[in-house]
Amino acid sequence: MAAENKRDYYEVLGVERNASPEEIKKAYKKLAKQYHPDLHPDDRNAEEKFKEVNEAYSVLSDDNARARYDQFGHNDPGTGAGGFGGGGFGGFGAGGVDLGDIFSAFGFGGGGFQRDPSAPQRGNDLRMDISVTFEEAYRGVEKEVVVNRLESCASCKGSGAKAGTSRERCSQCGGSGKVRMTQNTPFGQMQTVRTCSACGGAGTIINTPCPDCGGSGRRRMQRKLMVNIPAGVDDGSRLRMQGEGEGGLNNGQPGDLFIYISVKPHKFFRREEDNVKLEQDITFSQAALGCEIQVPTLDGDVSLTIPEGTQTGSTFRLRGRGFPKLRGYGRGDQHVRVRVVTPTNLSAEQKELLRQLDDSVAAQPTRERDTKKNLFGKKKGSRK
Ligand SMILES: [Zn+2]
Ligand SMILES: [Zn+2]
Repeated sequence: MAAENKRDYYEVLGVERNASPEEIKKAYKKLAKQYHPDLHPDDRNAEEKFKEVNEAYSVLSDDNARARYDQFGHNDPGTGAGGFGGGGFGGFGAGGVDLGDIFSAFGFGGGGFQRDPSAPQRGNDLRMDISVTFEEAYRGVEKEVVVNRLESCASCKGSGAKAGTSRERCSQCGGSGKVRMTQNTPFGQMQTVRTCSACGGAGTIINTPCPDCGGSGRRRMQRKLMVNIPAGVDDGSRLRMQGEGEGGLNNGQPGDLFIYISVKPHKFFRREEDNVKLEQDITFSQAALGCEIQVPTLDGDVSLTIPEGTQTGSTFRLRGRGFPKLRGYGRGDQHVRVRVVTPTNLSAEQKELLRQLDDSVAAQPTRERDTKKNLFGKKKGSRK
């Protein structure tokens, strides 16, 4: 739920995406020191930063968690909470910061610890990026993707307890999920409430884990899926594959898989809404005399009539040659914008012909001449 507002972990640590473990460690040490609560008593902002930095480091310093984060971003539950559990963090927390508070900030999405571990829980949504060509977006395409996801364990239906058994109350914490501890620190004696390490805060534990999933209720699977990408998708379109996300726990529904489409640019076509844009060069005489030319469309060449006296920048419309509309019916158009190419490297003879043309144009009535003047204005001036 908070995943959208979360800052990118690499950004948090100020390192490149391909940073080495040493660089990540170095950046972490520097920031952890900078924002350490001991140095900023009662500063909520520093405290938030400190938590953020620790969370980012917990993921990026773990090869597996980092790989998963690179693939799924913040939408993967395995990264947020990964390996954090109750322990491993004892050194921090002096200066009035409640350790329980720190732990609860790590990816458990508000009150996660208190959640009844035997209640059905929906699986997380997953995200995957797919890149298609301009033509594929125009015509639609089916793509095979490989999804690496946690699926509900079929043997225990996602409960984690061996079939026929169920969770039992945790003897370590008496079912509260929390353990109080008193610590002596250089700053005085501190009471901390820690998450029970035996049950991970749940208050109940599985005494007979399911042998197929090791008690986690889910198993990591690699699946091939066919994604049907409809004709007309645009850069940034999002497709939803219901139930293809992460598996649920305790008979909970699976999450969804969201496919984000990016469309590669085309060599000469561009897209604007559902219309295709094309720039087409024509010669000066084609523009002046009019002609029929062949122009490319995404369905092959079609002929286009250029009327006599066409100016550079004029746009012609090929109706129905654009993208199919994703919502609703019909398709866009193709817009062809012509550019009149001024002839270069003319021979002496050709130049003479143009001069004759120029003189003859100059003899036309003023109004008509004005529009043609631009084409010859300069040359005319230099000749006199
Ligand atoms: Zn199982
Ligand atoms: Zn416990």
